[in-house]
Amino acid sequence: MTTEVLILGAGYGGLTAAIELERRLRQGADLHLTLVDRNPYHTLMTLLHKVIGNTILPEAARLPLEYLLHQRQISLVQATALKLDLASRHVITDAGPLPYDCLILALGGEMDYYNVPGLEKIAGAFGMQVLDLFDARRQAVS
Ligand SMILES: Cc1cc2nc3c(=O)[nH]c(=O)nc-3n(C[C@H](O)[C@H](O)[C@H](O)COP(=O)(O)OP(=O)(O)OC[C@H]3O[C@@H](n4cnc5c(N)ncnc54)[C@H](O)[C@@H]3O)c2cc1C
Repeated sequence: MTTEVLILGAGYGGLTAAIELERRLRQGADLHLTLVDRNPYHTLMTLLHKVIGNTILPEAARLPLEYLLHQRQISLVQATALKLDLASRHVITDAGPLPYDCLILALGGEMDYYNVPGLEKIAGAFGMQVLDLFDARRQAVS
């Protein structure tokens, strides 16, 4: 029976998992792979500081997922994951429920400032992990 693998998040972790599992699928593993992200692009996180420094445009830090997954046996769903229904093995998204046999969570993280007073403010751009926020800061600096 085909195993339905649902991967949440097309960042570094999710994309790597999807590509590695697709390699196994090509080798004969009976899998169906679905990759979910709220954005239609993969964000090159390691370039975000260049966006704020205005040495690259925000577009250069975005790789369209459709392009990355072209000719790969990975279904792409653009949706925001809202809730896990562990009992029925579904992820509730703003585009509807998605079933899974195997679930990979790769939704990234948030900064922890360990309640250090003022740290969040001082951290500024380094505390941000969303491309649009870097772009907003770039425009403010410009
Ligand atoms: C400016 C900056 C520079 C960095 N430089 C380096 C470096 O040089 N070397 C290094 O090793 N690490 C670096 N890092 C850290 C590295 O980027 C992270 O460790 C890495 O991105 C984590 O990968 P991830 O797959 O866990 O999450 P992410 O890459 O953050 O991916 C998470 C994905 O999940 C999606 N997502 C989140 N929530 C939802 C939801 N509810 N529904 C649907 N989709 C959702 C997001 O859109 C995103 O695509 C840097 C980070 C930053 C911010």
